[in-house]
Amino acid sequence: MDLTKDVKYIKGVGPNRVLLLNKLNIYTLKDLITYYPRTYEDRGKVKPLAECTDGEEQTIEVIACSRVSEVRLPRKTMQKLVVRDETMSAVITWFNQSYLKNKFEIGKKYRFFGKINYKYGKIEINSPVFDEIGNTKNTGKIVPIYPLTYNLSQNTLRRIMENAILEVKGKLEETIPEYIIKENNLIDINTATEMIHFPQKLEDFKTARKRLVFEELFSMQLALLALKNKNLKEEKGIKYSKNVSVKDLSKQFPFELTRAQKRVLDEIEKDMESDKCMNRLLQGDVGSGKTAVAMCAAYKAVKSGYQVAIMAPTAILATQHLENFNKTLEKMDIKCELLISAITKKKKNEILERLKNGEIDIIIGTHALIEDNVEFKKLGLVVTDEQHRFGVKQRAKIAKKGNNPDVLVMSATPIPRTLALILYGDLDISIIDELPPNRKKIETFAVGKSYEERINNFIQKQIEEGRQCYIVCPLVEESEEQDLKSVVELCEKYQKEIFPQYRVEYLHGKMKPKEKDEIMMKFKNKEIDILISTTVIEVGVDVPNANIMVIEDAQRFGLAALHQLRGRVGRGEYQSYCILIYEPKGENTRKRMKVMCDTNDGFIISEKDLELRGSGDFFGTMQSGLPEFKIANIFEDISILKQAQITAQKVMQDEDALEKDEKLKKLVEDKFSSRIEI
Ligand code: ADP
Ligand code: MG
Repeated sequence: MDLTKDVKYIKGVGPNRVLLLNKLNIYTLKDLITYYPRTYEDRGKVKPLAECTDGEEQTIEVIACSRVSEVRLPRKTMQKLVVRDETMSAVITWFNQSYLKNKFEIGKKYRFFGKINYKYGKIEINSPVFDEIGNTKNTGKIVPIYPLTYNLSQNTLRRIMENAILEVKGKLEETIPEYIIKENNLIDINTATEMIHFPQKLEDFKTARKRLVFEELFSMQLALLALKNKNLKEEKGIKYSKNVSVKDLSKQFPFELTRAQKRVLDEIEKDMESDKCMNRLLQGDVGSGKTAVAMCAAYKAVKSGYQVAIMAPTAILATQHLENFNKTLEKMDIKCELLISAITKKKKNEILERLKNGEIDIIIGTHALIEDNVEFKKLGLVVTDEQHRFGVKQRAKIAKKGNNPDVLVMSATPIPRTLALILYGDLDISIIDELPPNRKKIETFAVGKSYEERINNFIQKQIEEGRQCYIVCPLVEESEEQDLKSVVELCEKYQKEIFPQYRVEYLHGKMKPKEKDEIMMKFKNKEIDILISTTVIEVGVDVPNANIMVIEDAQRFGLAALHQLRGRVGRGEYQSYCILIYEPKGENTRKRMKVMCDTNDGFIISEKDLELRGSGDFFGTMQSGLPEFKIANIFEDISILKQAQITAQKVMQDEDALEKDEKLKKLVEDKFSSRIEI
């Protein structure tokens, strides 16, 4: 069976339809049969007429109470039939279907399926399909509904799909080894493919879906493990000496490292001292002290004679890191420098020169570090902060500047371990699951809009005491332009009406990086009292004096986004507050708000988010980098994911598993060619 065959050879696909299918990214027969339905229409379910709503497609079961009458209209004829059930009557109409005139018997029951059209309180259904009672040919089946593009109708795509499925029926080659299918109770690829498109009953769809989701997640896991094995095998990394310890630096900190920090440092040190290349993800909630950990690792690298690159997503963050690093490392005779695009050409050239000849030990910067002209004498460790902003490729590119340097990726997005394994399956994972002691809990309140005045009074009181405040704007989903407008409008309202006595500024994603940096710097330097912003408030920015975070329309944000935003406050000595203004739409909203009020722990929040998931969006707009799946939904398919993970791990214990089994090898190759960047 040649699945690479062009869709134009499928029955029912003409030159026009090829173009429409291409728009849906369907080019080959394989693309077509793996274009899965978005949902299904169960035409077997019958509703009483009185419960039908305008515009819905529905099956009804009714008695014919008239003969079909025919009306002549200009250039066409219209057929009309009056029907009723116990609840009300309805009119069925067709055009140019004279042959229907003798089709229906008065008093006999029929089923119709079509679009309900309410006209002046009466139901009309135009051109429905129908069956005599007892038949289910047109009205009994479950029909797939596909995501579509303009000009391609459900009916057309459905017919094309029927032809495609007919063509491949029974001929698809199994993609998963037989023993894995058995062990995991899956159905075969042929049955699954047919049933996912044309299930006879809803159960069919579930078993078919399970098989396909498993395949997708299993191959993903295999691919990541293969990548990891490859890293382990091929890349001999730097073997740091045991003479310098990561912990030597910790004496310089004004605090004792937490147990969790010590534990992850042990893990990191083990990696550094082995000859394998470190590829480690350091996960920890905001404020858990990842910077201190990175600093210790950097210290070990420098004192062993290597250079370190620290890459941050924004200039503000890079600058902030530089300040922190210098505070501790200057007295240890370690030279840190900043490389961002805003520095002068002269200064930049000088830094590049000193970097190249090894005078700089630690270079901290933004994307500017990736540029080709950045060269090191002896790069030994790369740390990327807030990883989700950087792609795998960028990580690889900077690593190329050294001879297999160790890589530490830091992320402040607490995600359950299962998900971390999907996102970063090629990395080892260390988790800081503990905050430094004596952190004050950020008091969180969820309130309705009617509290506006009280909130403003509260803000005023805090500002009078010298604090600063963030206000995050309502999220307008329609467009970025509107988001922007809402920021500017809200800012004006605060500047002119509410707090004319304070310095209020705004920040949004469309501003130039330089403007954003300027505003953030002013806020940091206490030249702004209230900062109104979209969700772009820079991840990780530290303004310890800001202690209030107000989030408008909080119900529209995912829990992770709310948690990230809240993490902007509570960074200093002051009691901090987060005020969620929300509209109580739906039961889940209240539950979600309650989670936020009850805990400050990002890992608990992310677990709860998984539970309450539905409309909420864990990764929200703040994250990208989640792999895309054709059919799996990692939030709903957690149990299949675990199953796939365990299976993949078992398989890959044998290092040559892929060489020994053609099917496994092919699964991984398909993955590499499509989804994973390498
Ligand atoms: P994040 O994990 O969000 O990057 P940071 O590294 O910025 O967190 O740390 C947040 C704050 O906590 C910093 O001011 C840092 O000095 C402080 N800190 C880090 N570790 C400890 C500790 N073990 N005890 C007390 N304070 C700590
Ligand atoms: Mg940080």
